[in-house]
Amino acid sequence: MPKYAIPPATVPAIPVAGSELLFPVRRVYCIGRNYAAHAIEMGHNPDREPPFFFQKNPNNLDPSGRFPYPDCSADVHHEAEIAVALKSGGTEIAAEDALSHVFGYGLALDMTRRDLQGAAKKMGRPWEIGKAFEHSAPCGPIHPADDIGHPDSGPITLTINGTLRQDGDLNQMIWKVPEMIAYLSRYFELAAGDVILSGTPAGVGPVEKGDVMELSAKGLGTLTVTVV
Ligand code: MN
Repeated sequence: MPKYAIPPATVPAIPVAGSELLFPVRRVYCIGRNYAAHAIEMGHNPDREPPFFFQKNPNNLDPSGRFPYPDCSADVHHEAEIAVALKSGGTEIAAEDALSHVFGYGLALDMTRRDLQGAAKKMGRPWEIGKAFEHSAPCGPIHPADDIGHPDSGPITLTINGTLRQDGDLNQMIWKVPEMIAYLSRYFELAAGDVILSGTPAGVGPVEKGDVMELSAKGLGTLTVTVV
């Protein structure tokens, strides 16, 4: 056993549906503007330009069902997404082989301090301050692909206090899951434990303390998260 100078951090992990096992998280990649209608609402061209990614921290994933409203922002937005959890990785993965690296899928929210992200964008600065804050990725359990297959179509919806706010279909992704894995693996070495947040459909908007967000997608159940 190595001897550490200080106690090592615990491994971030999220539950596996239908099991007592946990999925240990290594890295979190998030794609930007992966649904055309969301690109348009954010003022961007919806054409199929090369994808871009940012990262959250592994321990930003939070399966507790509670989202503490973060400090330093007055405009925190929900982004309803599905997470893709990898059981293996590598570099230069072909899109045709990409799904063989997927362990499973889950629901996740890419919570965003939109005011801070917007200021960073204007100044050409990195997005972490708007994206990678504590508890910024509420998530549900990972459903193994062995149980549910590889969802590539079907509704993805988010309600707040019962009102429908986001209503898309997984088949609207500009870059499909195999393409995202292939693309990322050209620039990074992917590995078991990596999680990819696959983008959000249109309808993002602010949340307030007390709001109850309900995220659903085909085959992945419903994730209920209260803003506290
Ligand atoms: Mn997002």
